[in-house]
Amino acid sequence: MVSRVIPVDTFDLVIFGGTGDLARRKILPGLYRRFQAGQMPEGARIIGAARSEMDAEGYRAMIREAIEEFVPEEKRVNAPLDGFLAQLDYVAIDATGTGGWDRLAEMMRADVVRAFYFSVGPALFGALAERLHDHGIANEQSRIVVEKPFGRDLESAGKLNRTLAQHFDETQIYRIDHYLGKETVQNLMAVRFGNVLFEPLWNSQYVDHIQITVAETVGIGGRGSYYDKSGAMRDMVQNHLMQLLCLIAMEPPSRFEPDSVRDEKLKVIRALDPVRPDDIVRGQYAASGDTGSYRDDADNPDSRTESFIALKVNVSNWRWAGTPFYLRTGKRLKARASEIAVVFKDAPHSIFGEEAGRHRNILSIRLQPNEGMTLGVTIKEPGPGGMRLIDVPLDMTFADALGPEGEDVPDAYERLIMDVIRGNQTLFMRGDEVEAAWAWTDPMIEAWEEDGRRPCSYEPGSTGPEEAQILMHRAGRRWREIKT
Ligand code: NAD
Repeated sequence: MVSRVIPVDTFDLVIFGGTGDLARRKILPGLYRRFQAGQMPEGARIIGAARSEMDAEGYRAMIREAIEEFVPEEKRVNAPLDGFLAQLDYVAIDATGTGGWDRLAEMMRADVVRAFYFSVGPALFGALAERLHDHGIANEQSRIVVEKPFGRDLESAGKLNRTLAQHFDETQIYRIDHYLGKETVQNLMAVRFGNVLFEPLWNSQYVDHIQITVAETVGIGGRGSYYDKSGAMRDMVQNHLMQLLCLIAMEPPSRFEPDSVRDEKLKVIRALDPVRPDDIVRGQYAASGDTGSYRDDADNPDSRTESFIALKVNVSNWRWAGTPFYLRTGKRLKARASEIAVVFKDAPHSIFGEEAGRHRNILSIRLQPNEGMTLGVTIKEPGPGGMRLIDVPLDMTFADALGPEGEDVPDAYERLIMDVIRGNQTLFMRGDEVEAAWAWTDPMIEAWEEDGRRPCSYEPGSTGPEEAQILMHRAGRRWREIKT
């Protein structure tokens, strides 16, 4: 099987914050991989723009080092780095001042796609948008890409949307949620809407509940001061887990096109019930051995910010009434694993008697590690001795099913940046979607900030606080194991 590389038009891509962590770790290695795949068009240019004074040669040396660090050597053999680096340029710029803007304006070429990646803190988005406009650098065909966090509540997200809207039309704004760029997440849509098998069962009549888990083993590390003002709800649920929930719960869009998909996602967010306080469990990891507690890492002995959250969410519409969505995400957990599990109901009647036990079909969609899907089906245990049933997986791990190319699926950032160049907004969040998501999360956050309740403590390396298990047990359900 030969994967198709769809050509894109040539472009000038300016990366504001081009010397930062995200640019060095994700954006430029991702672009290099597209170059390797032969997708970088002739004459395409990537212009780093950041505060540091350096020339293009200095920038190329910096990015060479980054790619050597973040792209494994065996994945660099087939495309010399020099060819890629030759496409890089650099301009030192002051986002809030005047320095560098005239030079950037001179560098831009007419008649190529112009894209501007705002890989800087959100406090600079307004200043960048204004200067791009005032210096005539952005035209009506230009696109801007903005990173998370998109606001910290409805008010700040609304303000950010209005600021960007002063200079850019919504069709020019690409709000990144890199979860949407993951191969499995898109495959979820292919499985749902490309087969007749699943969609008829995709509702509360056949689905008992859905679990979405994003578990990390790392603590808050060096991000302590940022994270402590945010917490798991703002950092993970409002964006990534909500997006996953939307793709699972949405009605079939009429076409796989930006507004068809985003309209359906928005309807899901608007159908979410407020979550009852009893259906929310917040946790903070404790100290263990040599590793400090959340509060040590945050350097805030009285912190009440959650590093773990579990929620039972109801989607109030005809399709999902009565089928809850359980979401959980946290740091310093047992394993690094992200999964969506669609747990179907029991067969209405067992012809095999009680001794055959209880069996359920579960569709598991793994986002990391080993992206892939598994459908658990029930079969007869081989051999004589009556009808004993066992559950076996129908496995579709991409790496196995698709051969070497399954292992080499593009990283989320690669795909999303190429979508920006192509002008395809399907996998990017629209402004109203982001605001609706904040409108849903804000009251929960305000409620726990007001009552000042401390998050429950949990052991590092565990599955989170005991209370999260109880949330499930109350309904006679259990979380799936967190395993790599
Ligand atoms: P960083 O601190 O490592 O880099 C910031 C970059 O912005 C640097 O290149 C710096 O020179 C530039 N910059 C800062 N102030 C400037 C100014 N006044 N004028 C011009 N340039 C200026 O940050 P980062 O980790 O790369 O994150 C960038 C953005 O991406 C942030 O909004 C962050 O929340 C978001 N983000 C980062 C990650 C990640 O893994 N690092 C993940 C998701 C989202």
